[in-house]
Formats: sequence, structure tokens, C-alpha cells
Amino acid sequence: SAAPQSHTFEADVAKLLHLMVHSVYSDKDVFLRELISNAADACEKLRYESLSEPALLGEDQKGVIRITLDAEARRITVADNGIGMSAEEMIEALGTIARSGTKAFVERLETAQQAEGSQLIGQFGVGFYSTFMVADKVEVFSRRAGSDIANVWSSDGKGSYSVAPASLDEAPARGTRVVLHLMEDAKSYAETYTIENLIKTHSGHVPVPILLADKPDAEPQQIGDGAALWTRPKSDISEADYTDFYRSVAGQFDDPALTIHFRAEGRQEYTMLAFVPGSRPFDLFDPQRKGRMKLYVRRVLITDEADLLPGYLRFVRGLIDSADLPLNVSREMIQESPLLTAIRKAATGRVLGDLEKLATSDAAAYAKVWENFGSVLKEGLYEDFERRDALLGLARFKSTVSGGEWRSLKDYIASLKDNQTAIYYLAGDDAKRLENSPHIEGFRARGIEVLLLSDPVDSFWVTSALGFEGKPFKSVTQGAADLDLIPLAEKPEEQTPEVSAAIASYIAYLKTTLGDDVSDVRASERLTSSAVCLVAPDNGMDKRMEQILASAGK
Ligand code: ADP
Ligand code: MG
Repeated sequence: SAAPQSHTFEADVAKLLHLMVHSVYSDKDVFLRELISNAADACEKLRYESLSEPALLGEDQKGVIRITLDAEARRITVADNGIGMSAEEMIEALGTIARSGTKAFVERLETAQQAEGSQLIGQFGVGFYSTFMVADKVEVFSRRAGSDIANVWSSDGKGSYSVAPASLDEAPARGTRVVLHLMEDAKSYAETYTIENLIKTHSGHVPVPILLADKPDAEPQQIGDGAALWTRPKSDISEADYTDFYRSVAGQFDDPALTIHFRAEGRQEYTMLAFVPGSRPFDLFDPQRKGRMKLYVRRVLITDEADLLPGYLRFVRGLIDSADLPLNVSREMIQESPLLTAIRKAATGRVLGDLEKLATSDAAAYAKVWENFGSVLKEGLYEDFERRDALLGLARFKSTVSGGEWRSLKDYIASLKDNQTAIYYLAGDDAKRLENSPHIEGFRARGIEVLLLSDPVDSFWVTSALGFEGKPFKSVTQGAADLDLIPLAEKPEEQTPEVSAAIASYIAYLKTTLGDDVSDVRASERLTSSAVCLVAPDNGMDKRMEQILASAGK
């Protein structure tokens, strides 16, 4: 056969591999889960393609994953009879980290490592590359369904890989076989006991059966039931089952903060099993804002690009399995199906509803969710007007009275002062500076709560939000008529006539000196210890919005 073609990894992949192999990765076990989930995906992709092209399945109908151990040769092999890859697909899929943009990924990995030590690295899903934590050589033999050409991809995980044609008896008849040549200190991964336990604990619920053979020629044994977890009744599923499934479907390493599992009956019939992660997935701030919810139709994986939830819920991971959608239409058509639109709507409502329930039943757990995903959820405040009230109900804020805790708008409304007509806020990019701003002195002195909005997204929603429970949002940098009506918490010193006269003449002096640069100069109740501050007119633009627009050149 032809000589192997050598390729270098995309620069950032090489860097990533180095980081992974040389950091104290908290959990090397994950490589197996990653390989099994890729193999299961491959079987499901084939099942989907065979709907329009049944010949692809041939005699070998049922998807299966075969794991073979060889302790003597220090080798573990994971094979599937799924869709397989062509040479081009291997270069594309195994030479880059496709989903997230490797560069952004490596940057986050590096900051995480610097900031919090290498522990955190264990929380990133790194897919196929995790094999290089345990193997010093990885070979991927693959033959795409329907093709009579096989190829082998091979690498030591250092800087380059090669792709070459493979003979047909080296490669599986269809699908992919990944061979790991284990490092000396990883040789226990060729032992039955270790691997059987790993499969049971981490991959027991993938929807494809897994067969394990102790030795290359041994009779394989089935591990796990190959049944889809989400089709089982909730009462049969333990928290540990859910957590394992969450980790394999979400590529996360933590525990879910919220599990949403239900079956909808009635006009649409579908099952949803979704999770709010316990920590931020690394691709959360990807500019593409892609969700990662998978769409199944009667247990067949159709696509994970169906945008089953709006962008502001992109942190939710899991799947929806529909009983009503037709199987035999293209992925593009499915996207536009009115049935799916209805499912999307219902699923969005359900996620928000379950978040609300969590907020009520376990405020501390909800605060953690808000800390991780609040800034993403807030995007919904200017994107999804229909759900703005629900989202405002879920929103939490730091304020002049919160003492570092999160406050809801309900809390705010409950502590309104008599005569207070608005929900006051101060927006800016530095939380500390906000707290010390002269703009809030007068409000503090009257015990009026001011929301401190330091998230970049805040300026976008707050200027267009209509209000909450009848009270408009108002920036403290705009007029503050309420200050005249609400008394100071502590009585101020009486002003003598001499002081009043001095103030009046000082204001007259300022007006002539500043001329047209200001529209008015006023003695104000808004300050208590600072001497002056700039304010916008009552119906003028909020100061923060003005700055953002000025810096954007508007
Ligand atoms: P992810 O699974 O998140 O896409 P991975 O790094 O695990 O990321 O895999 C990268 C890509 O390699 C997959 O998206 C898929 O296209 C391809 N791939 C990996 N393993 C297999 C396999 N067993 N069969 C077919 N394709 C595979
Ligand atoms: Mg994967």
C-alpha cells in the first residue's frame, strides 16, 4: 500500500496535547468514556443514514461496541460497526478540535490552570484526545459504511499524525477500531476488572450494547443493557444513573445542578432528559452560542444541531426524544417542522419553570446556578420578550443592601420605600466602583435600594425592560425625583440662611463658567459626602449606555 501521509496537528492541538499529558490530570479514566461515546454516536449516525439508504446496514444490522483487552501486549481496542470515517474525515475530525475552536479552548485551559491549579483541567471534555493521557501510540482503523476503502490514522500525540490506506482485514468491515498502546503506568487499563468497572460506572447507559473480551480470542460478554436511560420510568433511575448519563451526554465531569426528566403526552409526545451543569462548560461563551441538546426520534439520534432551546439556555445539556416527528426527512426539514417549534416552546417553558422551582425549594443551589449561568440567561431579557417576565423573576442581583448576596426583584419590590416610584439601578463595569459611586449616596442615605449592575449584558436589557410588577427601571444617573419625596434616614443639619445664600451664588457662578457645556446646575439631595456629580436629564440617556455607545463610535 501507499506510504503514510504525515500531517502536523493544528498548532493549538499540539499545545493542548502537551498540556494534557503533562498536567496532573485528575481523572485519566475518562478516555474510555470518550471512546465509548464516540462509538455510540457513530452507531447512531449510521442508523439515521440507513433510514434513507438501507443498503448501508447490510447483514450487520445492530449497532454494537466491542472492547478487547490484551494485557500481554499492553493494549486496549474499542471497535464499533457504526458510520466509520473516510481519510478526509479522519483528518478533519481527529486533527482539529472541531466544535469549540481549539484556540479559545486552549486559552481557557491555560487560564484555568494558572488560576485554579491543574485540578480544574479535569472538568474539560477533551474527547478523543484524552486517549493520549494513557497511550503513547494511538491507531484508528476506519472504513466508512458503503465504502470498500479502509484507512489508518496513527499518532504518538506529540506533534504530528499520519494517515495511510489500510488493508481490508486490518480494518473492521464497517466502522472504526481505535487501538491504544498503553503507557507503562497505564497498563491496568488492559485488565478486565478495571475496564469492566469503568464501563459499569461511566457508560452503563449508552444506548448501544457493549461487549467486552478479556483476550483477543476470548468470547465477549455483554456489559450494561444498551437501553436508553430516558425511556425508563423515573422511579427506576437512581441519582447515580442520572449523573453518569449526564457526564457522558454533556462531556462534563461534575454533578448536575438540576435534572429535568419528563414525558410529555397530549398534542406532542416526547421525552426530555436534560441537565443544568454544576459548573460552566468550556464552550459557554463561544461566539456561535450553539446549544448542545440532541434530538432523537423514537430513540434514533437525528441531530444535535436542532437548536431545541434558545441561545440563552445553551448551557442546558441533554436530549429530546420525539415520538411524532417523521424519521425519514432531512435534518434541514426537521429544523423547520412546526411540530418541533411547538416542542421547543414547551421545552423552554419547562426549563424556566424547573429553574423557578429550584429557586423556591433550594435558594442556595439556585444561587450557584445563577452565578454560573446568570449572565447567559440575561441575554433572554432582550431576546425573548415573551418570556421576559419569567426571566426577570429568575434574575438575581447584587445591590446596595444585598451585602454580597443575591437579591431577586421580588425582594426589591418587597422593600420599596413609601413614595418610591421606580426600581433604581447603577450600571458600570466595575462592581467595586459602583458601590462607591457618588450617584448612590442620596439613595443610601434614604435607605432606597439600588441594583448594582456590573455585567456587560446588563446595559442592554435594562434600558429596554419595561419594568417589574408595575415599577419601571430607572438609572440613578438619570433624574431622581423620588429623592425629594422620601425622607433621609437620619435628619440632616438645618441650613442657615447664610449657607443657602452662599449656595445660590456658587450655583450662579458655576452656570456662567460652564455655559453651554451643561444644561443645568442644581443643589441636590442626591449627595451626602461627595461635592458634585454629573447626572443625565430625566429623560436623557443612561450614563453607562452613553459610554458604551461612545466607545463603539456611535
Ligand atoms: P466530539 O465527540 O465532541 O465531536 P471527539 O474529539 O470525541 O469530539 O471526536 C471528534 C470527532 O471524531 C467526532 O465528532 C467524530 O466526527 C469523529 N469520530 C471520533 N470517533 C469516531 C468513531 N468511532 N466513529 C466515527 N467518527 C468518530
Ligand atoms: Mg466525543
